[in-house]
Amino acid sequence: MIVSRQKPAAEGKSFMKDTILYIIVPCYNEEAVLPTTSGMFLKELQDLQAKGKISGESRVLFVNDGSRDRTWEIICNLARQDAHFLGISQSRNRGHQNAVLAGLMEAKDKCDITISIDCDGQDDISAMEAMVDAYHDGCEIVYGVRSKRDTDTFFKRVTAEGFYKFLRFMGADVVFNHADYRLMSSRVLQEFAKFKEVNLFLRGMVPLVGFKSTCVSYERHERIAGESHYPLKKMLALAFDGITSLSVKPIRMITFAGIFFFLLSLVGILWCVITAVSGHSVPGWASTACIVLMIGGIQSLFLGIIGEYIGKIYMEVKARPRYIISDRTGETDETQKK
Ligand code: UDP
Ligand code: MG
Repeated sequence: MIVSRQKPAAEGKSFMKDTILYIIVPCYNEEAVLPTTSGMFLKELQDLQAKGKISGESRVLFVNDGSRDRTWEIICNLARQDAHFLGISQSRNRGHQNAVLAGLMEAKDKCDITISIDCDGQDDISAMEAMVDAYHDGCEIVYGVRSKRDTDTFFKRVTAEGFYKFLRFMGADVVFNHADYRLMSSRVLQEFAKFKEVNLFLRGMVPLVGFKSTCVSYERHERIAGESHYPLKKMLALAFDGITSLSVKPIRMITFAGIFFFLLSLVGILWCVITAVSGHSVPGWASTACIVLMIGGIQSLFLGIIGEYIGKIYMEVKARPRYIISDRTGETDETQKK
C-alpha cells in the first residue's frame, strides 16, 4: 500500500517547518549551467528552511536525462559535497517530460511537496517561496505562470502563445503560459502516479488530477549558459503530443466533416437529378456524378463514425483513474478535533 506523507494543510508554523520539499531538476547536457544553478537551488532551499517554511530534510533532486557531457559527473560531485543534493540518471535520453516524471515518481514517497524546475536558471527560483506559501494556504498544485515574455524573440513569443491557444481550441485544458515549473503535493503525486499513459504532456495531465490549485506568476530570464534543447521541431512535436494525448477533438472534427460532406453529397445528387431531368446535362454525366458523390459522402460519414469509436478506444486504453476523492467527512472531523 502506498502511504501518502500528506498532512492536513494550514496547521500553523510547527507543520510548516516539517514540510519536506524536493526540487526536481531535469538536466540534459547542462555542464555549462549546473555548477552555477545548483548553488542557486541550494540557496533557495536554505533560505526557505531558515524562514521555517520547509524542513531541513528537503532536497534538490537532479534527473540526468542521458546526457552525453559531464552532467552526471557534476551531479555526483554535488551529491558528495552536500547532502542536500541527490541525483538519479536515466539509462538514455528520453526527453524533458519523462525526466520530470522520473524525478516526481522518485520523490513522491519521500517528501510532502515537489517543485519541478528547469536547470538553466530561466525560471525565477525566488518564485518558489510564493509557491510554498500557497501550499501552506491549502493549495495542492501551484502553477508557475510566466508574467511576460520580454526575453523571448518575437517569433518564440508568437509561436508559444499560439501554441497555448491552439491547444485549448483543440480541447486540451492547459494553464495559459504555464510550462513545467510547478508545485505538486505528495497527495497529488500519489494520484498522478495512477495515470499510466506513455505519451506524456505533463502540463495538460496535471490539471486532470484536480484538487485545489492556484497560479504564481514569475518572470522568465535568459538562459544562463548553453543552448536550448527545444528548437521549433521539438516544440511542434510537443504540441502535437499535447493535442493527441489529451483530446479526441481532432477525431470529432473528422466526424463533423464527414456529416457535412455526406449532406453536401445529398444536395449534389439532388442537383444532378434536377439537371438531368430538365435536360441540361450530357447523357451519362448525372449518373456518374451521383455515384461519385454517393460513395464520397457515405465514406466520409462512415470514417467519422469509425473515428468516434477509435477515440473511445484511445481514451479507454489510457486507463486513467475514473474518479479521485479529495476529502471525506470523517477525516475532516478528525482534523478539526486536533
Ligand atoms: N531537458 C531534458 N531532456 C531533454 C531536453 C531538455 O531533461 O531531452 C531539460 C533541460 O536540461 C532543461 C529543461 O529540460 O533543464 C528545459 O530544456 P531547455 O532549457 O533546453 O528548453 P527551453 O527552456 O529552451 O524551452
Ligand atoms: Mg530553458
